[in-house]
Parts: sequence; C-alpha cells; structure tokens
Amino acid sequence: MITIRDLDISNKKVIIRVDFNVPIKDGKITDDKRIIESLETINYALEKNAKVILMSHLGRVKTVEDKVNTLYPVSLRLSQLLNREVVFVDETRGLKLEKAVDNLKNGEVLLMENTRFEDIDGSKESSNDQDLAKYWASLGEVFINDAFGTSHRAHASNAGIANYLPSGIGFLIEKELKVMNDVMCNPNKPLTIILGGAKVNDKIGVINNFVDKADYILIGGGMAFTFLKASGIEIGSSLLDEESISFCKDILSKYEDKIILPIDVVTDLKTCFISDITSSEKGLDIGPQTLKLFSQYLRMSKTIIWNGPLGMFEEEKYSYGTKGVCEILKNIDGLKIAGGGDTAAAIKQFGYEEFFTHISTGGGASLELLEGKKLKGIKYEK
Ligand code: ADP
Ligand code: MG
Repeated sequence: MITIRDLDISNKKVIIRVDFNVPIKDGKITDDKRIIESLETINYALEKNAKVILMSHLGRVKTVEDKVNTLYPVSLRLSQLLNREVVFVDETRGLKLEKAVDNLKNGEVLLMENTRFEDIDGSKESSNDQDLAKYWASLGEVFINDAFGTSHRAHASNAGIANYLPSGIGFLIEKELKVMNDVMCNPNKPLTIILGGAKVNDKIGVINNFVDKADYILIGGGMAFTFLKASGIEIGSSLLDEESISFCKDILSKYEDKIILPIDVVTDLKTCFISDITSSEKGLDIGPQTLKLFSQYLRMSKTIIWNGPLGMFEEEKYSYGTKGVCEILKNIDGLKIAGGGDTAAAIKQFGYEEFFTHISTGGGASLELLEGKKLKGIKYEK
C-alpha cells in the first residue's frame, strides 16, 4: 500500500478525504472524536508545508432540505483543534471553491462543504461519478484517503479521485488495514473469534473467512439461536434466521470441534439451560455457565477477535454476557481486536475501550475486512 509517507507532498495541494461524519445536534457537535482522530494525518501534511484541502461527507443528503447537514460547525471545531484558520467553502464545485483553492498558501487548510451535496441531483458522489471525481481531482496534486468509515464504498470522493491523482492512504486507514492484515495472515495462535449480533445472515462472510483460520469460534447473541435450532434444540420465540439454518447445519457438521455454542441463556422469563427454553420464551442473552465456558477458551488464546454483542445489550438486564466478555478480556493478555458498529459502541458504553489492542472505527468497513474482502473505496494497486 502507498501511504502518505511514500508520496512527495511538500508544498503541494493535497486533497485529504477525511471522516468528519460526526453527530451534530442543534448545530453543535456532540462527539468530536472523528475530528480528533483525523488530526495526525492533517498535521503530518501541514508539517510538510502542504496546502491541505479536506473533503468529507456528513450524513445523507438526498433532498435540498438535507442541506442542513453542513460541515460548517466542523470547520469551527477543526480550527480550534489545529489552532489555525480553516477556510470553509460552502460549495462542492464552482468558481468560489476554485478561487479559494488558488488562494491557499503552504501550510493552510481548506474544508469543502459536504461531498454528498452532490447526491441531490443524481447521486453523483455516492455513485462514483467520474466527471465529478475528475473535477475534484483537478483541485489538487496528490490525494490521500483517510476516511475508513466509508472505505467499503466506492464513491467519487475516495475511489473516484484516486483514479486521477497520485494517491495513498493516511495514518488511520493504514492502521486499520495493518491490524486486520496481521491477524488474518499471521496470527499468534490460538486464535479465537467471538461472534454475536442479531442475524447469522449478516455474519456468513465472517464465519466463512474464519472457519479455517480460527482455532475456536464462540457464538452468542441472537445468531446463536439459529445454530442451536440447526442442532435440534427448541429455541422458543428466540431470534431465528430461517434461511440460514442449512448453512449452520453444514458448518456445525464440518467444524464440530471448533464451534462453541451457548449452554445456558437469559430469556425474557428466566435464566436456564438451553434445553429448558419453552416455546413461549425468547433468549436475549447468554447465561453464566456459557460465560464460564467461553472464558476457558479465551484464557488460552493468544489472539482474540470479537464481532457482535452477545445479547441485547442495549437493555441493562440483557447486557450481562457482553459486559462479561469485556471483563474477561480486560483480565487477559494477548491481542484483542474488536470490530462492528454495535460491538464498538457496547465496549465504549461499558467503559472497556482501553483494554483492547484495537477497536475498529468503521462499522461496515470493519465487517468487510473481517470477511477478508478488499475495500472498494481504497486503491490497492500502485
Ligand atoms: P455489530 O454492529 O457489532 O456488527 P450486529 O449489528 O451484528 O453487531 O448486532 C448487534 C445487535 O444484535 C444489537 O442491536 C443487539 O441488541 C442484537 N442482539 C444481540 N443478541 C440478541 C438476541 N439474543 N436477541 C435479539 N437481538 C440480539
Ligand atoms: Mg450493527
């Protein structure tokens, strides 16, 4: 991969695709983490005296009303964080933008308006329109993609611009790819993957990618019930992913020793052994015996990958399993990597962030990496 370090960006106009898709309420940014995380790449470019042109999306923009999703508040916050002026251009094309770019001096920063303003007339940004990509590319001399969260989609502002300029990735994407590549290609063994979440169907790609690589696959969450059903157990009204039953049967028969399923559950009525679920109950979390069982595998693992909460953690009474896994991981060494939007949210909510080696920041993008896919928004070839 070509990174920002490999390219000559000194004194050049560098377009950096960042992820400034931050939550904003009543014009106020409620969490500026993504802006802070982008600073390393921006500062690196500034140290090289580049003229920095920043592009990002913010939410969805399908109609003119969606133009409330302006990046203006982000420009103010960024200016504070960088401790220097940030030129904000409230257009995504045209003379005003071109002039502002022309006026940029070395070491200055410009933020263009939300790239998805170009989705109002025909989804140009999101469909990777090549005329738009070429136009944006014409504003700079080098392109750096550092927006991991959208890197699983080919848009004009990532894959598109990369077609027309010398391109590389920034520090955030570099780290995400490196961590995942290391565990996938050369993991310290035993490697255990913990899978949870709602539907088996969402995780088939991840399971297929890890069945051979992993030593153990611990399955909890809603998806465990389809596996349990496939092995002939009564699951009551627990989440069932009907169309994935045959997939589960197949995987269970081939990888019997690797796949570890829950032995007890917390349902909406009680905590009981898997065999005691009645037809009217719904399993919403793993039980204490399962957590104990999982901990035995986790304690002997050197690399652990976790995707998918083990229960309906949004409700306190069904958060036991997800919190429990956090607590086990806190107390063991080894490489601990988490991915997936809800998994990351749960870890943060319960305050266990610091005990992980890496928590992937992009929901969809991290899932695709776990599936072993190449990300469409990133230019891999030289
Ligand atoms: P991620 O975003 O980390 O990839 P998913 O989106 O696959 O995770 O799954 C998260 C969702 O799964 C959560 O909203 C959680 O409530 C739900 N979930 C977990 N266990 C259960 C369960 N037993 N029954 C119903 N939903 C569950
Ligand atoms: Mg999710």
